[in-house]
Amino acid sequence: MQILEERIIPGMASLFLGRSSGPDNEASAVEFLETKAPGSTGAVDWWISVQKGCPVGCRFCDGGSLPWGNLRAEDILAQIRCLASRRSSEGPAPPAFVNLRLSRVGEPSLNPDTLKVLRLLAREFPGPDVIPCLSTAAPKSPVTRDFFEELLAIKNLLYPNGRFDLQFSAHSLDERRRQELIPIKKWSLDEISEYGSRFVGPSDRKVALAFALPEGASIDPRRLSALFDPERFRILITPVYAAEAAKALGIARPWHRVPAPIRACAAGLRRRGFDVEIRADEARLAQAAASCGRLWSQALRRRAATALKNIELERQSYVTARTISSKALTWAKEIKGFERQRAKLDVSQSALLVMDMQELFLDSGSEAYMPSSRAILRNAARLRQAFAKSGRPVYFSFHAHDDPAKDGGLMSSWWRMLCRAGSPESRIAPALDPDLCRTFRKCRYSPFSHPGLEDALRLEKIRQLVVAGVATHLCVDSAVRDAFDLGFQPFVVGDATASQTEELHLAALRTLSHGFAGILWTDAVMNILGGKFHAQDPTRTL
Ligand code: SF4
Repeated sequence: MQILEERIIPGMASLFLGRSSGPDNEASAVEFLETKAPGSTGAVDWWISVQKGCPVGCRFCDGGSLPWGNLRAEDILAQIRCLASRRSSEGPAPPAFVNLRLSRVGEPSLNPDTLKVLRLLAREFPGPDVIPCLSTAAPKSPVTRDFFEELLAIKNLLYPNGRFDLQFSAHSLDERRRQELIPIKKWSLDEISEYGSRFVGPSDRKVALAFALPEGASIDPRRLSALFDPERFRILITPVYAAEAAKALGIARPWHRVPAPIRACAAGLRRRGFDVEIRADEARLAQAAASCGRLWSQALRRRAATALKNIELERQSYVTARTISSKALTWAKEIKGFERQRAKLDVSQSALLVMDMQELFLDSGSEAYMPSSRAILRNAARLRQAFAKSGRPVYFSFHAHDDPAKDGGLMSSWWRMLCRAGSPESRIAPALDPDLCRTFRKCRYSPFSHPGLEDALRLEKIRQLVVAGVATHLCVDSAVRDAFDLGFQPFVVGDATASQTEELHLAALRTLSHGFAGILWTDAVMNILGGKFHAQDPTRTL
């Protein structure tokens, strides 16, 4: 499970947006989280998604607005294993008790793999300290009828003696109102009552009936007890959380303290023999957008905003693949007065380092998209081929973190978003054919933060390092300065490097040419590698 985003609310919750590795999961993400279980010490709730989005489309839930699709059993298990592994020896202490709620995003009865997961879980977490909990809107179809019958059999066989928790979305005793809130064909309250009565055996937990209630609402105790047996059903009351969908419809009614009418309602139900649990909204969780589907729907909105921003960035880009040659002529003139030395490139002692030409900067859907990186892609590829053809070493660096909180250093507080190892954004552009070359992953600006690079250069007896890639004023600059200090004469290829802006690119070229590096141009380097002439004047072919 690759973590795309995480939000930690200390002492309360950890929210994750992840992407599992399946080929069809490229475009989708899955959200899951751990929260402190209400009213108990050492117990946690693990909220696990069973679908990518939810076709039920409850009016108060953002899960319904997400692109729909079933998750495979392995994608569901990956979320559970991810939360379990974070509680390994290096993380927080293992919880005393886990309520494993297969009900984050998605309707479990619509995904047959939910049952597969329940069977596998009994083997993977056999102890009494992990309780699977399944929450359902009870969609009505022959398929879901089979699902619920099999669920009953699995509960009896694998989770006896109160080791299974089942919850139905009720929300109202008025079927018309229920239909407005849960707009699908579903079991009536009578059908839920019939099934629940069969589901709960003498040693089982009571089935929960969930009611999301605005602060002034109530549940008629007499009507409830006419429908449901308090020996087999218990009541769970929550607010109508402030999901985007609920806010848009004006039905969001979060309450952070239990309102007096809800307390009175609960007292009435208790008098009828029902166990009643009330869960107020946690303000800090609400702020962190912890309600179902919000993390993912926020990510989708961000993706749309990023796409729009990137179109604008492309429009304003200071250089394109079409203008790079003419721009190079201008830049060559503009840095001339700053060059202290005209170092000479000696191919026989040189290697090429292509820096950070990864999807993080090249992909127009990435939050860190830099259109200028596309403008230099062809020149970087030409250099890579020419060096390899000349038998000279080619190295690649790319930037990616295992866990920015642990390996990000100051970068994690400086940059809003850091690339994760294994993510699509960490992939070096295939056009550069990096597979046959040595690559160095780094978590800092300079590739020399990876000790393997210096070792490789020394082993190959490299004395000169030609640098291409991005970004000129950040990682390229850091690499050049480190190379210089380590005794490798750096060269920067001005039209095979790029920055976010022309100002930054030129400023870096000027500074580097003044103190550290020779500035070359792709055509010139190609000619040198082709043996046409020695680089007395690297800008000559321009
Ligand atoms: S509340 Fe549950 S069933 Fe309803 S849309 Fe959200 S995820 Fe689906």
